[in-house]
Parts: sequence; C-alpha cells; structure tokens
Amino acid sequence: MEIEDLSGVGEKVAEKLRSSGFKTVESIATASIGQLKEVGLGESSAIKLINSAQENINMGFETGLDLKKKREAIGKLSTGSAELDALLGGGVETQAITELFGKYGSGKTQIAHQLAVNVQLPKKQGGLDATAIYIDTENTFRPERIIQMAEAKGLDGDDVLKKTQVARAYNSDHQIILAEKAAEIAEEHKTKVLVVDSLTSHFRAEYTGRGSLAERQQKLNRFLHLLQRSIGDLHNTAVVVTNQVMSRPDIMFGDPTAPIGGHIVGHTATFRVYLRKGKGEQRIAKLIDSPNLPDGECIFRITGDGVVD
Ligand code: ADP
Ligand code: MG
Repeated sequence: MEIEDLSGVGEKVAEKLRSSGFKTVESIATASIGQLKEVGLGESSAIKLINSAQENINMGFETGLDLKKKREAIGKLSTGSAELDALLGGGVETQAITELFGKYGSGKTQIAHQLAVNVQLPKKQGGLDATAIYIDTENTFRPERIIQMAEAKGLDGDDVLKKTQVARAYNSDHQIILAEKAAEIAEEHKTKVLVVDSLTSHFRAEYTGRGSLAERQQKLNRFLHLLQRSIGDLHNTAVVVTNQVMSRPDIMFGDPTAPIGGHIVGHTATFRVYLRKGKGEQRIAKLIDSPNLPDGECIFRITGDGVVD
C-alpha cells in the first residue's frame, strides 16, 4: 500500500510527505501530529491522516485472544550461551527489540554476528531456520568472522553468508531507508533476525549540540517504531540493535556510563542488555528493566568459535 492510497493524500501532499521522510504508510501511522504540521498539513488533516494510516495497518484494538495467538508465535533465538539465553528468558525474542548496549569492545558486534549465524540453525539447535538482515553503520561487519562462527556450528560458511543480507548505512537517513527496504524483503527472504549495528552512531554524529537533541530523539523514536511495527510485529522477526555508551567522567557516583539516545531507546526496546568486559574472554551481561523478566546478570565468553558459556 502506497501513501497515495490514504484518503486525502493527493499527488501534492504525497510529494510533501515523501520529501520530509514519510514514505510509507507505517511512517505516517507512527508520526506525531506536530511532525505532520511541520510538513505543511493543518491540524485536523494531520489527525485524519494519522488515523487513516493506523486503520490501514491495523494499529487499533484487537482481542486479547488474537494477542495471545500472536504471542504464541514468538520465536526464541539462542545467543550461543545458555547462561545468556536464560537471562533473556530463553533467547532473543521475535516481535521484540533487543538493545545491546555497552562500551567499545564489550561484545555488541560479536553477539550481532553470532545471532546472524544462529538464526540459520534448525530450531532444535536454538535457531529459527531462517535468514538474517544486517544493517552495518560502523563498517564492522566481517564475512570472515561469520564463516568462523558458522563453521564452529557445523554450517557451511559461504552458505550462511548467502543467507545474510548486509547493507552499509552511510548516514541516518540512509539507515532509515535501509530499514524500510528490510521490511520489504523480510518476507521473501524469510528473515527472522534484523540487526542494526549500531543504532545510534550516525544520529550521534549528525545531531550535535543541545538545540538538535529533541529532533534527534524524535527521529530515533520514529526509527525504532518503524523497526518494531514493520519488521518485528509484521514479520515475526527479532530486532537487535546495538548502542554504544558514552563515558561520563563527570558522574562521580552510580553508573558512569549513559546509553546514547537515552530514555527513548530505553523505553522502546523490549529487552535491554548492558554488556561489559570481564577478565580475558569473559563478558558480563546485565538485563535491565524488562517488562516480564527479573533483572539479573550472567557471565559468558567470546572465543574464536563465537559466543559461548
Ligand atoms: P563492540 O561492543 O565495540 O561492538 P565487539 O563486539 O567488536 O565490541 O568486540 C570486540 C572484542 O571481541 C575483541 O576485543 C575481542 O575480545 C573479541 N573478538 C573479536 N573477534 C574475535 C575472534 N575472532 N576471536 C576471539 N575473540 C574475538
Ligand atoms: Mg561494534
């Protein structure tokens, strides 16, 4: 469905919407009235348009039973570490956003690679018998590493790479376009994990200074809703995003780090995992603010074979 198919959207309005980044019905359904007013729509038109978009992608009420059925379809993807899987309530979930956050070198990219491999395993081995999409913003995706991890699982390296769609995002707008494209190809490729590594690096680089903070948060928020609705919910896919924390030397007490994107990312992600380095190969994962799981910690390792207990 195109945005022109919404009532009240003629050629001119469609063009205005598109040039402001509202290219899909989903993006309009998750827009705020203020954002559409900025595009040049009046308040009542903006409200009508958002309602019409939401009706078309079924964002209204549904029965509890429908919701129960939808939740029964949730798949669990193994991280490679039974301890880490247990912390997450059985693995990384589909229909949810899992945020991996931590300092440089804490293992975010390694887990992301591992999930792209593991999703291709049969269900008995903790996989989802499906393919991966990987949006790389920091140029840290390494086919060699995928091959190493694949072979450690008894899979053919090239075969796993064939079932991994990779795109390099050059800026935050491009990152959004790639996510929209990912939503389009997820069905045809039978994708069960979408990685965005990293979610925030472009946003952080492009929106500096206090003045642009609100704009950055709004755009990040829209991006996360796009991931949740048009990939997580629509295709029953696991969405995994990474987020580097900044060092906050000015904070004397408590956690001296703060995730970029702050509270918006925190409230939208269903699972938030804080990663930090331990001794040698060891890494510590901490689950934070999960809606239905107890907060807790576990230890896992990153080895040549990948993520293990
Ligand atoms: P980030 O959180 O910054 O994304 P990474 O996931 O890139 O961090 O983790 C990098 C770390 O992963 C390295 O410092 C190293 O400890 C480990 N690592 C990376 N590749 C390998 C490998 N082939 N074998 C063993 N450990 C590795
Ligand atoms: Mg990384």
